[in-house]
Amino acid sequence: MSFIIIAIDGPSGVGKSTIARKLAAELSYLYVDTGAMFRCLAWRWQQLDCPEDDDALRNLGLQTRIKMASNQIWCNSTEVTELIRSEQVSTLSSQISKFPVIRDIMKQKQRELIEDVRNSGSFSGAVLEGRDIGTVIFPNADIKFFVDADPEIRAQRRFDQLRQKGEEVEFDIILEALRERDAKDRNRSIAPLVPAEDSILVDTSNMEEQQVLNNMLQHICLLYTSD
Ligand code: C5P
Repeated sequence: MSFIIIAIDGPSGVGKSTIARKLAAELSYLYVDTGAMFRCLAWRWQQLDCPEDDDALRNLGLQTRIKMASNQIWCNSTEVTELIRSEQVSTLSSQISKFPVIRDIMKQKQRELIEDVRNSGSFSGAVLEGRDIGTVIFPNADIKFFVDADPEIRAQRRFDQLRQKGEEVEFDIILEALRERDAKDRNRSIAPLVPAEDSILVDTSNMEEQQVLNNMLQHICLLYTSD
């Protein structure tokens, strides 16, 4: 069987990252968090106080080296694993992700990453999570999931996560920020957040994590048995 690509798209707070990571571990596939890649760019954008013109954004995109390994994320020579998870970086990442020049560079980086892994033979597949994996980055992915959940439930999950990390946050502000980010991601002109026509919809509002995983694994098993 050839290199398998599993695309998991959906808005923030649906539990995509945890699910994608566990699925990748279960299948011994590479896990790629494309949101973290946009977050790295947003973090550097803020650090460098980079203007919004195409040339400056292109340079930023090309000169940002992102490394994800052993649960750590590095952006050039700085370890940014936690730094990129702040609410501020969340907002900036959805701002920077609307620029066509940035999306083009990210598309190239994500495809190259998978090509390198495929050629190296180190994994037999990859689970990529993001917003446009099944629609733009890998429209021919072997299996596509679109994960969604009620906004209030997603905001509550994000609120709990931030509180656990000791951040002083208010639920209403988190909900408002999440709705704004959703609107930006869903309505941008390039690569908007929409389910691919051939994606499998998974609503996690009332599902335990294990149920979601089992559901996805059943679909993936069908893929193997139909080969
Ligand atoms: O998934 P996460 O919340 O970490 O993504 C941060 C932001 O990066 C999203 O709000 C979205 O605007 C952007 N993003 C994107 N395309 C992806 C992944 C993330 O536009 N494939």
